[in-house]
Amino acid sequence: MIWYPYQQMKTMKDPYHITDAEGVWLYTRENRMIDSVSSWWSVIHGYKHPVLREAIKSQADRFSHVMLGGLTHEPVQQLSQKLEDWLPGDLDYCFFSDSGSVAVEVALKMALQYYVNQGQLQRTKVLSLTHAYHGDTFKTMEVGDDEDYHFILEAYGPNPNVIHIPTEIPALEKAFELCHEELNCLIVEPLLQGAGGMRMYDLSFLQRARKLCDQYKVLLIFDEVATGFGRTGNRFAADLVLPDILVLGKALTGGYIGHAVTVANKKVYEGFYGEDSDKALMHGPTFMGNALACSVALKSIELFEQEDYLSKIRRIEAVTRREMDGFTDPRIKEIRIMGGCICIEVLDPAILAGYQQFACRRGVFSRPFLNYLYAMVPYVITEEELIQVLSVMKAWFRR
Ligand SMILES: *Cc1c(COP(=O)(O)O)cnc(C)c1O
Repeated sequence: MIWYPYQQMKTMKDPYHITDAEGVWLYTRENRMIDSVSSWWSVIHGYKHPVLREAIKSQADRFSHVMLGGLTHEPVQQLSQKLEDWLPGDLDYCFFSDSGSVAVEVALKMALQYYVNQGQLQRTKVLSLTHAYHGDTFKTMEVGDDEDYHFILEAYGPNPNVIHIPTEIPALEKAFELCHEELNCLIVEPLLQGAGGMRMYDLSFLQRARKLCDQYKVLLIFDEVATGFGRTGNRFAADLVLPDILVLGKALTGGYIGHAVTVANKKVYEGFYGEDSDKALMHGPTFMGNALACSVALKSIELFEQEDYLSKIRRIEAVTRREMDGFTDPRIKEIRIMGGCICIEVLDPAILAGYQQFACRRGVFSRPFLNYLYAMVPYVITEEELIQVLSVMKAWFRR
């Protein structure tokens, strides 16, 4: 029996049974649909990409996995070298793990231990954003702020070690003023908050955050598990404002296999480096640096560069803006567009009931949640296919 995610098993509808997939298309026995979700925002190159498929196959012919405890290998060395060269600033130190949640856990653990290693035991508090989503493991639920995902934490009562603020500069300044002595880090999904409702906010907030973090010696963590690899229209938000720790997942492997990485800058790395074994980072996921994942991630990044994906994403944004221009409906609260993400926020979740089946019949797979009808398409989508996705969204309000 499969226990499906985020679902009441008794009332859930049968999931679509996928038998094949290619490009932006998912195939069932009867139908085909454009994956407007990119399998939780990860499959940026589409399915069955020949280069990515070959990367996994040829590595599997050598070995699929060896642990990184006492062993190393070319795919993990090449990927970390690539990330070191490719990522901005001195984000050079790559700690791999098997999922985004674990990579965020690692980032938070790094930030805490960074200060513990300096004997600053009072710096235990994490500053994070309202509506934040950072994963479903326990610490990531604590720093997240979403009743719908994390309501079980209510059982523990209020958490004194996490402070949530809205994405407004005065709230940010006040939190630093009041709590800076106890803060160890600020963690954000930069520019675009995904699972909390595709909320978009201004770069000036991140710029101010960077200044305050410098001023009060607080570490800045960017969780770019969702925003990384072009989703906001920028390669990384970290290209605009440099964090101390960067977390990547989802599209890291082009969505071909689960993997994630926590990348630290020199300052953080040096906070652990030395003769003292007590200062080492005590973490090591079994499948960190998996050879299949590293091989396919490397090829995914090469494709992203060689085929100028940023221009593809600019085109997706331009077509989306053009198609949605002037579209309104009294049931819509707001339409938000940024890079490869569009979200129609409606006034009531009931307005979206039945949308998934409606879209499926029109050849689009969609998975609205709460008040949010969104698309995060694979970047290889053609203009015609993208127009199909957007037309189905509009058609729902024109029934
Ligand atoms: C999806 C997501 C995560 C969690 O990644 P998993 O691989 O599902 O554990 C963390 N942070 C953000 C911003 C995400 O969107």
